Amino acid sequence: MNRRFEFEPIGLCRSPYTDKFGIPRQPRLVTAAEARIELLPPYDREEAFAGLEGFSHVWLLFVFHQDCLQAGWRAQVRPPRLGGRDKVGVFASRSPYRPNPIGISAVAQHGLERQGKRLMLRVAGADLLDGTPILDIKPYVPYADAIADAEGGFANARPQARFQVNFSELTQHQIAEQDADGRLRLRELIEQVIAQDPRPGYMDRYPERREFALQLYALEIQWRIEAERALVTSVRPMQRQS
Ligand code: SAH
Repeated sequence: MNRRFEFEPIGLCRSPYTDKFGIPRQPRLVTAAEARIELLPPYDREEAFAGLEGFSHVWLLFVFHQDCLQAGWRAQVRPPRLGGRDKVGVFASRSPYRPNPIGISAVAQHGLERQGKRLMLRVAGADLLDGTPILDIKPYVPYADAIADAEGGFANARPQARFQVNFSELTQHQIAEQDADGRLRLRELIEQVIAQDPRPGYMDRYPERREFALQLYALEIQWRIEAERALVTSVRPMQRQS
């Protein structure tokens, strides 16, 4: 039996997450994240999606292509869900660092869009890095995929928003400038990304650190923790690396 398999991506994900820091730990936690799957030839054909209109959600199967392919795997990982302290087996986790670094995410689909020669599937709520190679797209089939009485182990409950997020007056103007037509849903996106607390679990051990920066699209977002609130202090284009 052939024990090696070679797959080529059918598309690439274009998402707001241009850096790993800030990406939610699962799909649908940040619903304002609008992304699209750009189909690669020969899969950029409407006929390959005929019938998908009736499905509200799809499964994305993708490669954790950033760092995880080279890094190898360990039998035990420390999920952020356990504060980055306790270990569980890699196969009891959704860690990107696994023997075959393949991810799965169920996301809302908002139909195909053609821009010139390019065909894209619009999706929302994805937890994928910009540029992620997509191996497959399948309809989410509720009767088979949604298991009402399933137990979620150490990740049983959906994580609660950790911070209330406020925007300084300056950032309200900056957001209006960067997202004039509101298509990026930038304010909502920043709010949801920060509310879920993107800091690694171990940051709780460094309470003195209060200022953080993250990247969405080509923007640098600076924010600061004040008690149980987060204040967004700057939203501006990334400085070019020289
Ligand atoms: N829903 C998926 C992913 C869970 S892990 C699954 O269960 O399989 C989510 C983390 O994957 C994110 O926080 C982000 O840091 C990481 N990630 C997303 N896209 C990635 C990529 N292309 N390469 C490496 N890591 C990625």
